[in-house]
Amino acid sequence: MSAQQHPMGISFEFFPPNTEAGRDKLMQARDALAARDPRFFSVTFGAGGSTQHRTLDAVKAVRECGIDTAPHLSCIGSEKAQLRDLLTRFREDGIKRIVALRGDLPSGMGGVGDLRYANELVEFIREETGDHFEVAVAAYPESHPQAPSLDRDLENFARKMQAGADIAITQYFFTADAYFHFVERARALGVEAPIVPGVMPITNYTKLARFSDACGAEIPRWIRKQLEAYGDDSASIAAFGEDVISRLSERLLDGGAPGLHFYTLNQAEPTLKVLDNLRF
Ligand code: FAD
Repeated sequence: MSAQQHPMGISFEFFPPNTEAGRDKLMQARDALAARDPRFFSVTFGAGGSTQHRTLDAVKAVRECGIDTAPHLSCIGSEKAQLRDLLTRFREDGIKRIVALRGDLPSGMGGVGDLRYANELVEFIREETGDHFEVAVAAYPESHPQAPSLDRDLENFARKMQAGADIAITQYFFTADAYFHFVERARALGVEAPIVPGVMPITNYTKLARFSDACGAEIPRWIRKQLEAYGDDSASIAAFGEDVISRLSERLLDGGAPGLHFYTLNQAEPTLKVLDNLRF
């Protein structure tokens, strides 16, 4: 399998570290993953802009290896003037891609700000900066946790794409058919842009269960049961996780997914093992 067969190739997501040790770990992961020739790296953004500086610092450090690196940008809780300043800063810093999100407001933190949904952020980015940025947005094959229905969420997704997004990256999921169903329905609503599946390597059951509850990703019962049965046996969890995620990724690519975006959690090894199995 080669990157040429998949127009969106592979991309890797990191989070901004907050310690020296975390920074070293990120740089090691970056170096190991850069060797797989990703289309881009991305760095997440804390809710309400809480990691704004760390995100930009991490973007600058990560891209020193020569691979384009995109900051995530969320609009919730921000005023247009702040977002405008940030976009100007991104441009001046040579940034060419953004992952544009609504984000989630931490409880007790201020008002919603000037832009309520990601489609408004995409519109704002296009109004302010034209075609300068490649804009990626989030997609939810299993539905966003706050969406009133699958249909309404899909309409909201289509609106966000029509506002000028270039690609979509999905929330992670473990059921390939959820992705295929979502893509089919998005195409029927006129969305033509690539929809890249987001892939979460499995390394730690407790963390995975916590994340999945929060973001609405369903862990199928058989995966949950098997991971529970392994308890603290991290080697078995890693081996099982590698097998499950490699098979899922293979099915997605064989079924026409245009590439894969890995949620690395700043660890290279689990993602590299999946890529090795895919011969990517
Ligand atoms: P939206 O697309 O705005 O959707 C949010 C909800 O509102 C959905 O239920 C949708 O159906 C509904 N909706 C959308 N538009 C409208 C409208 N016009 N009218 C009425 N309802 C509407 N979070 C972070 O904090 N930092 C990150 O760096 C980060 N990166 C992510 C990267 C990816 C690839 C993904 C999939 C998620 C990421 N998230 C991140 C999580 C994301 O911020 C949350 O899922 C958030 O709750 C929704 O953001 P969104 O951009 O998808 O929102």
